[in-house]
Amino acid sequence: MHDLAITSATLVTSSGRRHATIVIDEGRISALLAPGAAFDAREVIDASGLLVLPGLVDAHVHLRDPGLTHKEDFASGTAAAAVGGITTVMVMPTDRPMTTTAALLEAKRHLGEGRAQVDFALQALVGPGTEPGEVERLAAAGAISFELFLADMASPMQVNTGAELLACLRAVAATGRVAGISAGDESIVAAHTQTGMHEQASSREAFLRSRPAVAEAMGLARALIAAQAAGARVHIRQMSSAQGLAVLEGLRGTGSLDGEPSAGPSDATRIDVTSEVTPHNLLLDEGFVKVLGPVAKVLPPLRRAHDLACLRTALREGRIDMVATDHAPHLPAEKAAGEVDLALAPGGLAGLQTWLPLMLSMVSDRLLDESTLVRVCCEAPARRFGLWPRKGSLEPGADADLVLIDPRRPLTIRNADQLSRAAQTPFDGRQTPATPVLTLLRGEVIAREGKVVGSAHGRFVAPDV
Ligand SMILES: [Zn+2]
Repeated sequence: MHDLAITSATLVTSSGRRHATIVIDEGRISALLAPGAAFDAREVIDASGLLVLPGLVDAHVHLRDPGLTHKEDFASGTAAAAVGGITTVMVMPTDRPMTTTAALLEAKRHLGEGRAQVDFALQALVGPGTEPGEVERLAAAGAISFELFLADMASPMQVNTGAELLACLRAVAATGRVAGISAGDESIVAAHTQTGMHEQASSREAFLRSRPAVAEAMGLARALIAAQAAGARVHIRQMSSAQGLAVLEGLRGTGSLDGEPSAGPSDATRIDVTSEVTPHNLLLDEGFVKVLGPVAKVLPPLRRAHDLACLRTALREGRIDMVATDHAPHLPAEKAAGEVDLALAPGGLAGLQTWLPLMLSMVSDRLLDESTLVRVCCEAPARRFGLWPRKGSLEPGADADLVLIDPRRPLTIRNADQLSRAAQTPFDGRQTPATPVLTLLRGEVIAREGKVVGSAHGRFVAPDV
């Protein structure tokens, strides 16, 4: 007698569609049976007419917990994830306090356990202020990645010099874990950030100029050269520009950067790098900043239509590895403070709940096919960060983390339906083609029809490396 069976399911995987009955025992997929094959189960879910995908795995999420819980916390942020079909979130370290030590990571883990609706991994912050030995202790405590910021980070954790960058990457490389790098250039930020402009149009222009594509590209070049020198595995956060993409591709393909003669790029000399792009950098151009102002203020900023087109092509062709939301909620009142002078609003958008509907709209608009959606939203993040094949897979043995989608029922994104405390999204009013109707975490229903179901039983997950 099996625990649960999902019948008449159309599975969507990275290698295409497949029809099967999914059998689940003790929270895991135990078998995929031919449609119509006999089985015995205590509970049955009829998935006729629905698509079944692995629950999405989001590699870039800010939950504001601890310390900034007026903006979001484990409960509210992961509720948005659950109804949006996301079953694993990797949580960034930029809270108060920042996650800089093993003790702080353990404390954060306890905050999440019993309150998170979905499984969660924790990311650690490294920078010049990191104590010797702390990176090893954080890795032992289960940190899934180590995050470096080249701009938009307070001292002493912002990585400013080449020496600091190399030292941080060498420390991370020694653990075998991935270093997440938010590229940028603080000197350009400083030159263009001014408050008190009291003029809407010029303050919005100034913000766009404060983080131009060239800053991303220069930061990326430094990061990639340092990554190869340090032998580090790196993951580039939030690719947003064609210029950044050109640097990433140019340096990745170069092979040896140390001046030694090389017969061409080989596996031994290739930089071990992956990258991500956000839904908003794929779908919204800088015109939204000019019209919507603070609601569309995000770091890095929205870019030109040409950048969006290049990023979409790179994602489709596998030159960008994954999509991640950079869910970064702020209260509506905090955003409203920048209505006239954009410098006064915090940067960041809620992204968890709208992620899957927006990806499905990209599929229906033929910007992506559904197999690529599964690859870039489920498999790639799980593989890169050491959670594969537990997460992001529909194969037997994987955790039974699933999202069921009704492909015939359109969904209009509305601020009023958002479960995040951010309570608003620049996608408000956008119609998407399909609706996530049921989310399961390790074989238990955690969300149905836009509402959270049952008690929070999300678990801390550490990488298998
Ligand atoms: Zn972020």
